[in-house]
This record gives sequence, C-alpha cells and structure tokens, in this order.
Amino acid sequence: MQDRRGDRDQPALFGIGDLEPAGAPGASPAPSAPSGPASGPAGPMFRDSPAARRMLAVREIHAEPAAAASPRGREIVARFPGARVVPVDSHWRIPGLHGSEGNAERWVRVKTETLVLGERKTFTTRPNGRSADWIAPGPSNGCAMACAYCYVPRRKGYANPITVFTNIDALLAHLGRHIARLGPKPEPNQCDPEAWVYDIGENGDCSVDALVGDNTADLVRAFTHWPTAKASFATKFVNPDLLALDPRGRTRVRFSVMPAEDARLLDVRTTPVAERIAAAADFLDAGYEVHFNLSPVVLRPGWRQAWADLLRHMDDVLPRRVKDQAAAEVILLTHNRELHDVNLRWHPRAEEVLWRPEEQQPKRSENGAVNVRYRTGVKGEAVRGVRDLVAAHAPWLRIRYAF
Ligand code: SF4
Repeated sequence: MQDRRGDRDQPALFGIGDLEPAGAPGASPAPSAPSGPASGPAGPMFRDSPAARRMLAVREIHAEPAAAASPRGREIVARFPGARVVPVDSHWRIPGLHGSEGNAERWVRVKTETLVLGERKTFTTRPNGRSADWIAPGPSNGCAMACAYCYVPRRKGYANPITVFTNIDALLAHLGRHIARLGPKPEPNQCDPEAWVYDIGENGDCSVDALVGDNTADLVRAFTHWPTAKASFATKFVNPDLLALDPRGRTRVRFSVMPAEDARLLDVRTTPVAERIAAAADFLDAGYEVHFNLSPVVLRPGWRQAWADLLRHMDDVLPRRVKDQAAAEVILLTHNRELHDVNLRWHPRAEEVLWRPEEQQPKRSENGAVNVRYRTGVKGEAVRGVRDLVAAHAPWLRIRYAF
C-alpha cells in the first residue's frame, strides 16, 4: 500500500526549483536535473545538458597514452572536444596536479576543469563487512564534487579530480571471476540477506562518473547478469541518466544525507539534500534498491535538532514503497590533520565545525593513516543519540550499522 501522505508531499524530481547557495567560496551546488522525464540512449541525456557541463567543464585531460587510445578513452575524449589532452606517464602523481600545494586555492576549479585517464594496473577486491561484503576495485578515483571532509583527496593529494580507469573490461572480468569463485552467499548478514554486496564506488562518486563516461553503466548492467551479487555505491549527486539503465534490483544506490545546513557548508558542489531524498522514489521505480547513508554525522551545537528535522522530513516525504525497502548506515565524522590544513586555505568556515580537537582523538585507519575521530565517550553517546532519533522520527529506517 502506498503511503498517501508521502506520495502527496514528495515533489517530482524533475521539477525542482532553484538551488540554495553552497557554503564555500567560488563553489556552486550541483546543477538540478532539467524539467521533463529523463531520457535514455534514445533521447538527449542529462550529461549532455548545459547543467551537467557546469559540474564538469573539462578543459584539460591528462591521459596515459594507452588509456587515451582505448575505446573508453576515445569516447571520453570525444565528449569534451574543447579539452586539451596532455600525455602523462602515469595517472599517479601528475606534476602540478597531485600533491601540488598551489591547488588548494584552485580546489574547485581543478575538480571542474580537469580529468585524468589511466589504466588500472592491479585488481584487488577487499573484504569489508560493514558497508558492503566486498570493496571492489573502483572504476575511478577522485571526484568532481568537493565535500570538505572527503577522504578521497588524501589518496592522491590535494584537489584530486576524477581519474577514470579506461580498462573497464578488465575490471568486469576480475569481478566476474571473484563472484564465480565465491558462489552463492551461504547465510544472510546485515549487508544483504541473499547477495554478496560489492561497493563499486569507494574512491569517488559513480553518479558523477556517469557524466564522464559509461563505466558506471557498464557496472550496473554487468551486475544484472550476476544473480549472487549486488553492486552498491554511495552518492551525493542525482544523475537522472542512471534511471535509464535497468538495474533490475542488482544495484543499491545509497543516497548520503545530512541536515541541510550542514550540507550547505560541507557538501560543496553536491545535489542539495532535499533533492537526493526526492529522487529516492524515481530510483526505486527504475529498478534500484535505495538505501541512505546518514553520514557523516558532524557533532556541533544543535546537531540533534537538525538530524531530528531531517529524519522527520524523510518520514514526511518518502513514499511507503521506499520506506519498506530502505536501510541506513550511520557514520560519524572522521577527519585528518593534513586535510584540515588544506581546508583552512580554501574553505576555513568548514573547519569551524569539522575540527574540534577537544572532542576528537587520533585513530589509525586501515591504510595506516592517522585520522581523528570523536573521543570514545563522545562518539558512543552520539551513536546512541542518532539511533534514538531514527527510532523516534523514522522508525521504518532499519540501521544496518552505526559507528
Ligand atoms: S561526493 Fe564523496 S567522493 Fe565526492 S567529494 Fe564528496 S565525499 Fe568525496
């Protein structure tokens, strides 16, 4: 049965009006989808719209020669005919791009105007057990959005625009072998009751990648042929082109949400949170499973009230069919000294809420980096607080895990 209140209140995704200003200097939020229904391969695609070109106005493509010459590389270069192609030996440590301190001030511009094409040399699928059963080798690395807390820039250094891996066939072959070796999932777990879940977007955002090329589409389609597995990716961008891919329930989209006032300050260049929530029913109806990431939870004065308002909004506008299948991850903010220092140079206001040494402690992450997270007592109480808020305001939202 439909949640009538939800259906009445949820605005249509493709008619949403003006966007609110972003919280960082020189940054505008992600463009809204145009009015009218999404078009598939037979019609105009969102990624060819002026709105999409504002998110990615590519002027320079740093490309490994083999990547540029590959079929996927040629497609991408052809999509940005005005861009200068600069040959590079490796997609790692491109001089003047990665690790270049000068890029702190040009943070958003680098993300908008620069692409990197490379070939993935190693394919390793890692066990996870939280967000997904497995972390797949990603089809990209880096992002055109600019969330102030994002750990992705830490990997390559500074702005880290999108690097597209053009050898997608090798990635699909690797995944096919991995899935075949595993066989059926022996027992349910919190990741999924039946399917092995593979996170395909650990180091980027697959929805924005789909503005660049077809790697996301290839992955979504591939998982329709693997009945024991399911793809999953988190996103902060609503890309209506994904609605045409026919995922047949084998891809889980996790819309990341946070209170709007936090997002305006921290989620730079992303789709406004209300639009991400408004898109949920469209994605469900298009054949995706739709979950939510309540993340990152940033502790600041008034955070409980702000999250309560967000959860009440979700309860008000989401239709029953979305609620019935939804689940959520809750992730408290982790931050990092180096990123803090860089952010002070391009978006210092964000650091007023992200960097709270009196409430944070060092934490060594999986890859050996030293991050900071909320102190044990503070964090435990906050996790309980979020659980209580969900129980009070969105009791239909099953929490898969919280940490
Ligand atoms: S959308 Fe994700 S990958 Fe992109 S900047 Fe934000 S946190 Fe990073």
